[in-house]
Amino acid sequence: MAIPFRCRCGKLQGEVEPAAAYLRAVCHCRDCQAFARALGRGQDVLDPKGGTDIVALRPSGVRFTTGHDQVACLSLSPKGLLRWHSACCQTPFANTPRNPKLPYVGVLASCMAAEPGTLDAAFGPRRIALGTDSALGEVAATPVRTTLGVVRVMWGVLWAKLSGRQRANPFFDTATSQPIVEPRVLTRQERAEAESVQ
Ligand SMILES: [Zn+2]
Ligand SMILES: [Zn+2]
Repeated sequence: MAIPFRCRCGKLQGEVEPAAAYLRAVCHCRDCQAFARALGRGQDVLDPKGGTDIVALRPSGVRFTTGHDQVACLSLSPKGLLRWHSACCQTPFANTPRNPKLPYVGVLASCMAAEPGTLDAAFGPRRIALGTDSALGEVAATPVRTTLGVVRVMWGVLWAKLSGRQRANPFFDTATSQPIVEPRVLTRQERAEAESVQ
């Protein structure tokens, strides 16, 4: 059963296929925090320790169903990850690499329209903590689970490439391999503001 996701105002909607998921992890890194804050959405996205609940999956498992024209993209730096959000109401919803040949997308659980129990059943509970050095307060690192998780993602990415399943990627133009919208790179000033914890 696909899990729907949507921006706050509902103009942009889509769904993710649980079968395409590699793993679920909570990332506390500075960049993930800055992404949410740059859009003024820290309160909606980040948990009290600054963590972003992310489901990593094969991009072919993500579909936009409504509001393609509201898809927008920013990057914290010229070579940084592409960080996808809605243009209408500035809802952060996903991260991808800049290279579409790497079949990876992280979709933010905060934009998924499902009960916590449904998310746990679909993607597993929040058991992997990343970027714990940047957490706001004490968060226990999960080295063994993180290592196993990295292996799972690498294996999933490799399998997606070998099976040809990476070709369907809704974030990139198939013909040009370019992102479907031009990423906006934050200015140094904007980035510094987004990185400062209020
Ligand atoms: Zn919206
Ligand atoms: Zn992160």
